[in-house]
Amino acid sequence: MGLKDCEYLAPSNLSEALDLKARLGADAVWLAGGTDLMPRARNKLVSPKAVISLKNLVQELSGVEDDGAELKIGALTSLEEAGAHQAVRDRLPGLVQALKSIGAPTLQQRVGTMGGNLCADTRCLYYNQSAFWRSGVAPCFKLGGEVCHPGGATADRCRSICQADGAIMLAALDARVSLAAGSGERELGLEEFFTGRGEEPLAMGPDELLINVKVPTPKGQGSAYCKLAARKAIDYPLISAAAAVSIDADGVVAKASLALGGVFAAPLMLKDATQAMKGQKCGPKELEKVARKAGSHAQPFFIENQSAPAEWRAEMAPVVAKRALSEALAGAKGQI
Ligand SMILES: Cc1cc2nc3c(=O)[nH]c(=O)nc-3n(C[C@H](O)[C@H](O)[C@H](O)COP(=O)(O)OP(=O)(O)OC[C@H]3O[C@@H](n4cnc5c(N)ncnc54)[C@H](O)[C@@H]3O)c2cc1C
Ligand code: SF4
Repeated sequence: MGLKDCEYLAPSNLSEALDLKARLGADAVWLAGGTDLMPRARNKLVSPKAVISLKNLVQELSGVEDDGAELKIGALTSLEEAGAHQAVRDRLPGLVQALKSIGAPTLQQRVGTMGGNLCADTRCLYYNQSAFWRSGVAPCFKLGGEVCHPGGATADRCRSICQADGAIMLAALDARVSLAAGSGERELGLEEFFTGRGEEPLAMGPDELLINVKVPTPKGQGSAYCKLAARKAIDYPLISAAAAVSIDADGVVAKASLALGGVFAAPLMLKDATQAMKGQKCGPKELEKVARKAGSHAQPFFIENQSAPAEWRAEMAPVVAKRALSEALAGAKGQI
């Protein structure tokens, strides 16, 4: 195990945990379910001096609260518990789909958490490899080096990608995260939380802990998540689309948002494409146009850093976008 030489700490409450992190900073990492962290540690992609387990904070930081306008989901809520909550099932069907697509039921039920999914690292075929495999190539930008293997000679940054299904759906749902530190709390929209930089994908300080995510649930909203992966389980998205569409009583679109996953270091928000839906009663033709525009916007982001060719992923982008938008719109119609 890559963590065998590091100190294991298990604070008994939130304030103790924040004190520890304030003291240790970037030398320590949080451990929730460990399903993203442990494989990286085993591959020596992360070698902290200490691990701070969140296991004693589960009571404090898990569960779903509903104030009618939004749902607050605690960071340590398991993926299964979040997806099974009645209010989530009734008002955020796209999130249920996204959470059910993560790994496998055992991972969702026992270990994987909402906070861990939001904070999961970006991924790349040249990065998520054993130390032995990587010893054959020069260190890339994400490892502090000066190359990007699939990026070619002109590459100047890391283009690893966000493949966290829950986070991609939450971005389309306009969610906000609460970050706590010894000095207080702050709230960030996901567009700010995800930096879009593969080297450092999260705008989170070394002393901060994500404590919850707040998801608005406006009336008349439908949502959907569509993921393409090599297998139906235990597979990250090669390309995915998350859509949320709200309509008014006449069926006119009041708000639409679309995020693509498996493309960019953050969920790729496609505001220009969905803008055209506002004020329209969208049918299949309009949705096809929006999906195509989304696909062409995403086109330049694809590089050969996944197990499926970039060309295929780019071709599939408008396909998943249209499926997610159509399903979200149909869901919205069912709400009024
Ligand atoms: C076989 C397998 C298949 C998988 N398939 C998928 C998949 O299809 N889709 C997908 O999205 N993911 C997948 N994953 C990744 C992972 O299971 C999920 O992203 C899961 O939700 C991570 O949650 P965790 O609690 O295990 O996170 P952890 O591994 O504990 O943490 C992940 C990262 O976030 C940090 N962290 C954790 N909690 C917090 C917090 N509250 N505040 C600040 N930082 C925090 C940790 O330090 C770590 O860097 C897979 C993993 C495995 C092993
Ligand atoms: S995209 Fe390039 S820099 Fe980033 S992890 Fe992959 S090889 Fe490294």
